Amino acid sequence: MALDNTREKSLSFTPMVIEDTMRNGRGLSDQWADTVVVRPRTTERHITVHKRLVLAFAISILTLIIVTVIAVLLSVKFEECNADSTTSASHWNLTKFNQSRDALFNHRGEDSFQPWRQLRLPGSLRPLQYDLHITVFMDNFTFSGEVSIELQCLNSTKYVVLHADRLAVQKAVVYSEGKKTRALKIHRQFRYPANQVFVIAMHRELESQKNYKVNITFQAHIEDELLGFFRSSYVLYGEKRYLAVTQFSPTHARKAFPCLDEPIYKATFKISIKHESTYLSLSNMPVEASISEEDGWVTDYFSRTPRMSTYYLAWAVCNFTFKETVTDSGITIRLYARPDAIQRGSGDYALHITKRLLGFYEDYFKVKYSLPKLDLLAVPKHPYAAMENWGLSVFVEQKILLDPGVSSISYLMDVTMVIVHEICHQWFGDLVTPVWWEDVWLKEGFAHFFEFLGADFLFPDWHMEKQRFLTDVLHEVMLLDGLASSHPISQEVLKATDIDRVFDWIAYKKGAALIRMLANVMGQPVFQMGLNDYLITHMYGNAGRDDLWNKFSEAMQKEGRDINIKEVMDLWTLQMGYPVVTITKNDSVDNSVTISQEHFIFDIKHSAPSNSSFQWQIPLTISVGNSSHISPESIIWVSNRSESHKIGSVDDGSWLLGNINQTGYFRVNYDLRNWRLLIEQLMRNPEVISVGNRAGLIDDVFNLARAGYLPQNIPLEIVRYLSQEKEFLPWHAASRVLYHLDKLLDRTEEYSIFSEYILKQVASMYHKLGWPTSAVNGSVAQATYQTEELRREVIMLACSFGSKHCHQQAITLISEWISSNKNRIPPNVRDIVYCTGVSLMDEDVWEFIWMKFHSSTAISEKKVLLEALTCSDNTFLLNRLLNLSLSSDLVPDQDVIDVIIHVGRNPHGRHLAWKNFREKWDILNTRYGEALFINSKLINGVTEFLNTEAELNELKDFIQTNGGGAAAAFARAVEIVEANVRWHSLFEEEFFQWLRKSPTS
Ligand SMILES: [Zn+2]
Repeated sequence: MALDNTREKSLSFTPMVIEDTMRNGRGLSDQWADTVVVRPRTTERHITVHKRLVLAFAISILTLIIVTVIAVLLSVKFEECNADSTTSASHWNLTKFNQSRDALFNHRGEDSFQPWRQLRLPGSLRPLQYDLHITVFMDNFTFSGEVSIELQCLNSTKYVVLHADRLAVQKAVVYSEGKKTRALKIHRQFRYPANQVFVIAMHRELESQKNYKVNITFQAHIEDELLGFFRSSYVLYGEKRYLAVTQFSPTHARKAFPCLDEPIYKATFKISIKHESTYLSLSNMPVEASISEEDGWVTDYFSRTPRMSTYYLAWAVCNFTFKETVTDSGITIRLYARPDAIQRGSGDYALHITKRLLGFYEDYFKVKYSLPKLDLLAVPKHPYAAMENWGLSVFVEQKILLDPGVSSISYLMDVTMVIVHEICHQWFGDLVTPVWWEDVWLKEGFAHFFEFLGADFLFPDWHMEKQRFLTDVLHEVMLLDGLASSHPISQEVLKATDIDRVFDWIAYKKGAALIRMLANVMGQPVFQMGLNDYLITHMYGNAGRDDLWNKFSEAMQKEGRDINIKEVMDLWTLQMGYPVVTITKNDSVDNSVTISQEHFIFDIKHSAPSNSSFQWQIPLTISVGNSSHISPESIIWVSNRSESHKIGSVDDGSWLLGNINQTGYFRVNYDLRNWRLLIEQLMRNPEVISVGNRAGLIDDVFNLARAGYLPQNIPLEIVRYLSQEKEFLPWHAASRVLYHLDKLLDRTEEYSIFSEYILKQVASMYHKLGWPTSAVNGSVAQATYQTEELRREVIMLACSFGSKHCHQQAITLISEWISSNKNRIPPNVRDIVYCTGVSLMDEDVWEFIWMKFHSSTAISEKKVLLEALTCSDNTFLLNRLLNLSLSSDLVPDQDVIDVIIHVGRNPHGRHLAWKNFREKWDILNTRYGEALFINSKLINGVTEFLNTEAELNELKDFIQTNGGGAAAAFARAVEIVEANVRWHSLFEEEFFQWLRKSPTS
């Protein structure tokens, strides 16, 4: 699943209220209390003995004992066999199953005989296969279904507990399987909505090791809310069209059919869909047969799926068209989208790269793609950027369709990464599925990491893994994970409604950063070998993080390197945060250095004492350099709080550099003398230090100073080298940290001293690179990525820090557009030009952009236009935009949040956005409240740059009355604003003092 940085869920949430049909829970439990003693291997029985049956009884007891002993022995044997049967993936893995349910047993209380009250399924029944028939009524947006589930009974039980949510169950029948199939007597059936389950209480126990079949017929609505089986619409040639599609991850399959909706319950699925013949239907597998029914209806029968988890199931009913291609190994790839987009060729790019990517992954993992086909479905609305359903991945249009000539490089990159991510999931996720949601990072971290490897395969010049990974993943997540309110990457979740919470940037970005660190320690061939072994062992099954660590340790051992990966990685996955490593040269003559570690935290002065015990095993790579040369890296495993090490020859002029190419997930600090030497080196000849380390030094310096680990002048000194910097990545890293500083200072009196200083560092590169020439027709991929991105970055810095030349250029370009009504502004700088134009020019320009926003059909362009409207200096216009966004449907639902956040980034709009946020919180919360991720994006986006004492108090007051629902996001917000306020009170004066005295040349 790809989360979206920019475009989020648009929910108009109308929860369907379901009455608890259980008449009297307490009465039931009392009534059943003594009949429900159904534990395996319990031999205790109440038996009334009649005298004449003594002999028979004695014999039965003897038989019972013998049978029990055999059963116990067999089952112990069975468990043992499973515990180490890691090679037989097709077997039901009891170890894993129990592991996954540990949490359940830990939470068992006196209600243990009422399995529906537990947060997890009881585990007595295991599904083998599902036959599911769905009839879809697009005229009134309902569907009816019939599901037949073949279940194996593992522990005898009286209850069939299935997930079902918002489904109206009409009839349920349970059959015993075997020589003669017969319907079993059902005692009663009821829903328990609190845990989204449907319970069938049998008259008699289902017996262990026997198979049963449950048939259920049901009905439900095709909702307008992006979860379960939902509908959305689009306009084609002036006519409104509807489609219906599924989103089951993480816990919404239960909204479409009764099932055992936890990832561990893998089964095979055979689906058929009946629909009007004006539509077509899609699912994970290809259509086996299509049979025309009574007038105008057709039923599509899909092939049976391999063993898979419910949340990867998918289907859709739409009247899209498609384009297709076939891979060398015979897999058919189709891209389905609305007919006009297919006609325009907007899907061609995605289709082309998907074909190449399947080959890339098959080669890398050395495991073939499992299904005969892969469909990519582009839908107008979706809660996430995309969802990796096996064989039927669903994408929101903006993340898969691309119009060459209109889309910018960053849009192309965005689309590319999302596709690479989803295709990776066909292995990491679909084929091997995390046991439980606490380890969601296992699939998301991998898919995110592979975005960069896959993009490098497609565009080797982009150097994504070596470069862009640093700014977009590592630097980004270290900001979040440096907060005291962060959390470990593996986090326990039980309740279905909490599961959305685990899909956050910590899971995605920290997951990817840890995997990258490990891949670098292991070396690519060994890493690849470990992955291959992991996938082969667990294919069509589930795996937890320990399974991965074991495979990696084994792969290392084969290479003769004995590292206990689990021991190392547990410290990184079970502890929150990350360390800052400090390297200090000792005064002694023996070239020794002291290396120490501590938990990096932005709140250095108040850090929670409990965290001071945090310690990591850190693979620190280190090199020694001088003016023209850098030594090969050596690796030091730092596991103590402080250690002394001898480093080769370090003379007075040599500097030390740690975390080579920034492959490690930690920051590095040095003694001030070493910092000066590094800065001198950068000024004199930056290329001695790698591009990745140049970007890394910038990010570390700014954040170390921000948190108070370094004096405030060090970051200001380091940016002076930028005039020497010819590569994109360090500029990008600088632009990110400067942007943050800019927002912190943009309402201070002395702001202009800061902006002029930065502009001075940018000026020479700005004039050297100049502006891109007008848009040429043809593919955006033709532009050399590095040059274009560098130019864009420098122009952005120049315009935002007040370059007169840059401003004039933007004004000229906009004026030409208005007078000629032809947009010749190069796509790659459009956002900068529009935003600068709107902020400097009069109201007519704002109106012009607003008009273009409504008339534009290109999705990427629409977004850029909307964001430009938030750049105005005019609070009246900003207010108008906020009101229009919040109270009309002129701005699409999914963009409203971006509008508020962007207005808040504008110093003239910050107060306005913050005020609107507080006043409209109820509306926003109702509209987006269900999706915690959206909530936290909004909360953090709006509050991120508040930095006065007054604003902090407003925030705290607001939380006191309104903060219940999104406690984690608000805790984070308070911590960030506190850090901002603290920075002003502790460091602002020191910062400006240096700037006032800084050399003018
Ligand atoms: Zn994903």
